[in-house]
Parts: sequence; C-alpha cells; structure tokens
Amino acid sequence: MHCVDFLIIGQGITGSLLAYNLIKLGQSVCVVDNDHYGSASKVAAGLINPITGHRLNITERFFEYSEHAQTLYWQIERDLGLDLGLSSNHRIYREINQTRLIKNAGQAEYLAQRKQQTEYQSLLNNTSNTGGWFGNSEQHPFGAIQVSKTAMVDTQQLLFSMRHWLQQRSALISAQLTYEKIQLHNNEFSFENINAKKLIFCEGYQAIHNPWLKSLPFKLAKGEILTVKPEQPVDRLLSWGNWLAPLGDGRARLGSNYVWNDTSLNAIAETPTKFMQSLTTHTSLKAELISHDVGIRPSTTQRKPFVGALSNLNNAYCLNGLGSKGCLLAPFYVTLLCQHMLENKPLPEEITRWL
Ligand SMILES: Cc1cc2nc3c(=O)[nH]c(=O)nc-3n(C[C@H](O)[C@H](O)[C@H](O)COP(=O)(O)OP(=O)(O)OC[C@H]3O[C@@H](n4cnc5c(N)ncnc54)[C@H](O)[C@@H]3O)c2cc1C
Repeated sequence: MHCVDFLIIGQGITGSLLAYNLIKLGQSVCVVDNDHYGSASKVAAGLINPITGHRLNITERFFEYSEHAQTLYWQIERDLGLDLGLSSNHRIYREINQTRLIKNAGQAEYLAQRKQQTEYQSLLNNTSNTGGWFGNSEQHPFGAIQVSKTAMVDTQQLLFSMRHWLQQRSALISAQLTYEKIQLHNNEFSFENINAKKLIFCEGYQAIHNPWLKSLPFKLAKGEILTVKPEQPVDRLLSWGNWLAPLGDGRARLGSNYVWNDTSLNAIAETPTKFMQSLTTHTSLKAELISHDVGIRPSTTQRKPFVGALSNLNNAYCLNGLGSKGCLLAPFYVTLLCQHMLENKPLPEEITRWL
C-alpha cells in the first residue's frame, strides 16, 4: 500500500491547482482522473473578464480573485519552466486587450454611469471608437470600450503540464473512480493500492453521481464553443454578447452559450451557424470553422461554490461549483481550502452551508 496525505478525485482546473498547492505545502498527494471529454476545463476559453453582462457589472470580488489567480498561474509557469520558451504559446496565463462593443442606447447609458464610479476607473478606458473591429459607426453608433485587466488562461496547457508534473511524481492514477470502491478504515481511505488520510472531491459536474454530494444544489449549464481560424489576425478579445478570443497561433475560440437542464454532451447542430452569423453581424471578421466542442459547467443555484469538509463523511472535503468562472475563482478557493485543512482557518458559511 502507498500512503498519502490527500487523495484528490478529478484533475480539472480545480483538482490540478489543489494538488499543486498541497504538494508545494509539503503534503503527499495522489490524484485520480478519468480524462472525461465533457469536463468543463477541457473546453473552457479560459477568459478572466472583469466586466460582464448588459449592465457592465464588475465581476464579484474581481480584484481580490484576479490577484490570486495571476500570482498562482505565474508561479506554476515559473516552477514548470513554461516561462522560458521563446513562444508565448506555452504560457498558462496571459493578459490580453479587450474591445467590447456597446450594443445599444441602454448599454451606453450604463457605460456613462460606470465611468463615474471609482471602482471602474482602472477598468474602463475612454476610447469610444470601435477600432475597426466592429465595422463602421453607422452600424454601431454607440462605439466600443477598451476593458483593462482582462486575461486568458490556457486550460489545455494547464491540464497537460500538470498531468505531466504529477506523473513525474507518481502522483496520478488514470482511472474512473467508482464510489463503492472507496474503502474506509479507521477514518482513512483506500482506493486501489493508495491509502489516504484525507479525500477531496473535485469532479466538476460529474459530482452529481457522487453519493456523498447528492444534496448539493447544482444548476448545471451545458456550454458550446467553436475553435475557428479568422481570415485576418486578431490580437485582442472582442466581445459583443458573444466573444472571439485569439489563441495566439492564428486560431481563436468563438463562444459561447448556456443550455440549461441538458447534460447530454450532444453538440447542437445549429450552433456553428448561429455563432458564425453572430460574428459576421457584429464584427468585421469572417472565420473558418475548425472544431465544435461541448462541456458542462458545474454551476450552482446560489452562484456560490461548494468548498469545505463534508458533514456526512469524516476527513472528506469538496471543492466544486465554480460555474462559468473556474479560471478566476479556483486559485482563491484552493488557497482557502488548503488554509482550512492545514491550519484550521474557518471558511465562510456561504460556501460550506450545503456540505
Ligand atoms: C463552453 C465553456 C466555456 C467556458 N469558458 C470559461 C471561461 O472562459 N473562463 C472560465 O473561467 N471558465 C470557463 N468555463 C467554466 C470552467 O470550465 C469551469 O468553471 C471549470 O473548468 C471547472 O473545473 P473543475 O475542475 O471544477 O471541473 P471539471 O473541469 O469538470 O473537472 C473535473 C475532473 O474530474 C474528473 N472526474 C470526474 N469524476 C471522476 C471520477 N469518478 N473518477 C475519476 N475522475 C473523475 C473529470 O474527468 C475531470 O477531469 C467554461 C465552461 C464551458 C463548458
């Protein structure tokens, strides 16, 4: 039997960052992952966007979350040597310019209000023309705005690099964990040849099959995203309700939608046409379709994640429910959970109450 401090179920963004943090804190870890094609981390665009929605609201606790995110992603890049290559294509985290279309008079009014508010000062740049990205001023009379502090996380690079890093430490088992195979002895867990003092569930939307997490109020949201090749180079995130996010190698992600109450992972046949039409209607760009992917966001009814110890299983924890903002939120909540497990720091009630 191989003994570890923590057995983590799931190597999406959440499980990856948690395993990394725990190992850096001197803990021994084993991660079990079934490499499921519909997991959100595999298809996410990785956007970290300070301003969202028609009203141009600031993402809740944006400044606190984004500082944590930047610090952790940069630390991983340095640690794994991803910052050494000449190409930025191996980086996990990159800041990116964002030009956002102001779609109508109502939104222009919100923008005028936001510009007066102190917390928006560092986010909204005053430029009001569309910079040619969204066609001419007749088509889009309300112009566009530059949004600072926008970033992109390359989730596929993160998962791939962390997988390799964990494999080098013999800390990854590629397997489907079936819950009845977890054995419990003296408040410790065993699975295959691993014995662990603590167990952490990070299965994303697949947690709906977990008997200990049955009562969690998930509100899962299927999402579709296209990978496309724009006809001309794009050097920034363009957003207009949908968005086009350049990958840095001539391709871009075009997304996305929310399909509620559907965990089928079937791609909807009309989606590529809809997204492409949205692109050509709102921007001055055309693009060629490369692929069409589907994933399930682990969203929750309260829009708060589930983080903390389980009340129905001793020494077991959960970190899940990061919804559509896993890249922004995961670094912060990983830190909170580590501090809770290793230093006994209390967690806020809003994230523990369902566990
Ligand atoms: C179309 C789309 C676009 C998105 N865009 C963005 C974006 O731009 N920015 C952003 O921040 N977020 C985005 N998201 C959301 C983001 O992807 C999620 O918040 C995040 O990936 C959740 O990560 P996770 O690790 O908690 O879950 P997951 O990514 O689902 O990972 C769970 C892992 O656990 C494994 N697993 C599950 N059950 C088992 C089991 N029983 N045994 C073994 N392994 C198991 C799975 O294979 C998977 O690897 C998007 C999501 C979608 C679907």
